[in-house]
Amino acid sequence: MLSKTGVPTREQVESVKPDRERLARGPVAVIECFQQIPCDPCYTACSRGAIQPFADINDLPRIDFGKCNGCGLCVAYCPGLAVFVVDETYSETEALVRIPWEFLNRPEAGQKAPGLNREGKEVALVTVKRVQPSPSKNGAYILWLAVPKELAFEVRSIPVK
Ligand code: SF4
Ligand code: SF4
Repeated sequence: MLSKTGVPTREQVESVKPDRERLARGPVAVIECFQQIPCDPCYTACSRGAIQPFADINDLPRIDFGKCNGCGLCVAYCPGLAVFVVDETYSETEALVRIPWEFLNRPEAGQKAPGLNREGKEVALVTVKRVQPSPSKNGAYILWLAVPKELAFEVRSIPVK
């Protein structure tokens, strides 16, 4: 249960996944935000109107995948580290997954690292392709990870060294 473990259920994860057709068109935001809290920077950051207006500040974000171009601004501005960008068109065998990174120790582009799932379990070996300073200028980074394509919706972090 999310409130006890911090880990969303399989059903919750499936409920926010873009469909296969959208995934085949390139990078897209995946918002794994499942707890109602007074928060909406993902909405205010999105200049394309892909994240729908909140009727109430406690609403869960809703995204129109058709309007999202995978720019990643919402990844940078989400204080809950709940937004990712998944690009399944990266290569035949790998997907590119962008994750927020707020730790002082940061990896370097080109390095290999264990890919961790939402429970912190190692599920793959991934490659850090890019370490991007956050567009929000908050001192954080966005890591671009090449992960086995079949694990694009499993890998959500790498260990802190
Ligand atoms: S990735 Fe960019 S376009 Fe897509 S929802 Fe986030 S801010 Fe909007
Ligand atoms: S900014 Fe992040 S935590 Fe806040 S509502 Fe949006 S996705 Fe959820």
